[in-house]
Amino acid sequence: MDKTFERCAVKASSLPAVPEITRRLADLSQSEDVDLERLTRLISGDPGLAVKLMQAANAPFFARSRRPTTLREAILTLGGDATISLALCFSLSSALEQQRLGAISYLRFWRRSIVTAGAARIIAAHAGYREVETALLAGLLQDIGIFALDHLEPRAYRTLAAQASDHEALYRMERCRFGYDHAEIGAWLLNRWGLPYYLAQTTAVSHATSLPEITAAAATVPAADGDTTVADATLINTTLLAGRLAELWVSEAKEPATLKAIALAHELFGWEQEHLHSIIAEISSSINDLLKLYELRRFTAEDLQAISEQAQEALICRNLSLVQRAVRERERVQQLEAEHAALREEVESDPLTELKNRRYLSDHLENLLSATQEEGEALTLALIDLDHFKGINDRYGHPTGDCVLTHTACKLRDETRKEDLLVRYGGEEFLLAFPRMDGEASLVVLERIRNAIAKQVFTCCPPDGELAVTVSIGFASSRELPEELPLSADLLLRAADHALYHAKTKGRNQVHRARAEEYQRAAKSHGAS
Ligand code: GH3
Ligand code: MG
Ligand code: MG
Repeated sequence: MDKTFERCAVKASSLPAVPEITRRLADLSQSEDVDLERLTRLISGDPGLAVKLMQAANAPFFARSRRPTTLREAILTLGGDATISLALCFSLSSALEQQRLGAISYLRFWRRSIVTAGAARIIAAHAGYREVETALLAGLLQDIGIFALDHLEPRAYRTLAAQASDHEALYRMERCRFGYDHAEIGAWLLNRWGLPYYLAQTTAVSHATSLPEITAAAATVPAADGDTTVADATLINTTLLAGRLAELWVSEAKEPATLKAIALAHELFGWEQEHLHSIIAEISSSINDLLKLYELRRFTAEDLQAISEQAQEALICRNLSLVQRAVRERERVQQLEAEHAALREEVESDPLTELKNRRYLSDHLENLLSATQEEGEALTLALIDLDHFKGINDRYGHPTGDCVLTHTACKLRDETRKEDLLVRYGGEEFLLAFPRMDGEASLVVLERIRNAIAKQVFTCCPPDGELAVTVSIGFASSRELPEELPLSADLLLRAADHALYHAKTKGRNQVHRARAEEYQRAAKSHGAS
């Protein structure tokens, strides 16, 4: 395990454990012969799960000849292994559903997982893999690492998820930004949850791009007893293709997704394009059933029609070598984009607080001001400076000072809106930009912030007591500028700085709103520079 991944894995120990029922289902799944009596008793102990299983056993997606009316019949109809796989699907998804702590959209995350699961089940049937419910489960869990990363790195992950053009791009950005990715951390998590090792393997390989990469990634996840057997190759290939194919339904970039799926279906299964097209049609015609079971938004007839047309178009106009070339080209471009985005992120962020830095501000502030001006709205800028911070460093040491800075940054983020821009402006100074907020409204928020920090008990320092931290704040607002002065972001910043100085000289731990004289002084120093 490399260092960065290890660090993440340590942090990941804070992730929620799986519910008891899931653990017991996982245990049952490891035994050679499933005891149906025990399984029925276990599931009937969880009414929510029992209902879901009954619904599944009766859903058209799982098309069974008999329609079971009791849980016992449902389990008999489905069979032990399939019941366990489905029960694991439901118990894990409802457990995760209740723990939405991160930043990404969980509905989108689940929709993608469900489509992957449905696709995996259909691909498995075509590939002659009999345990189709296992493929369903493997597909469902393939991206579980996204859930984990989103929990562990919510801020960074939100930016990444917003920037990534599709799932593959997200994966590449994760690697550039963190040094590991959701496939890796997902496999680690499934292992830790005690789920069968082949689920960790199918997850570990889910972004491999060639057969040697698949084998290498699968071998990184040994079975519980250290056995390095690689799971059934058909199951691995099935979930891998399912993940790529899911893009057709959930991503905007349908054409590259189709090309990739064609190349992969040929490489992994030797399937021709026509065969893949019939699989796509089959997934389209049944996926809404599965989404319904999970109470997720279904696809409209137009969506499905568009997907089918897009696939058809990609299929007719290219031969395989052209397809492969296009796929390679796209991978190269995505890799470059990911590296570029990671580099930009690094240059524009402050490593200690993970806030944007002054460089980002100078590139964006003028634009933010023009945008709000065009909307006829106000922009308010506030400078927030910690009081007597040097004393904290001197008394408790630099690491304590660092800790106070990170806690202050968190507090500021908690107390502000998503659209507010928060920047580490200098050593112990932060800048807050409030778009569409005038001086009056900003004053209320800034007073609340000042108060919240003064009240907060900072637990950063060694045992000799709690730290009292206060801030002084100066702010200036675009609407309050004297008429004769030309508005600019720089002028507002200077006025806020003069106001901050005033707050400091008046005794600190206070908010000062720039008055005409601070704007005038700012204009003078502006002209002088
Ligand atoms: P005032 O109330 O007037 O703002 O006093 P102050 O002590 O907060 O201000 P001063 O500018 O005198 O000192 C700021 C200190 O912040 C000095 C510097 O060493 C410290 N500092 C700057 N960046 C960091 C950092 O990243 N970590 C730590 N621990 N200290 C920092
Ligand atoms: Mg993935
Ligand atoms: Mg200070």
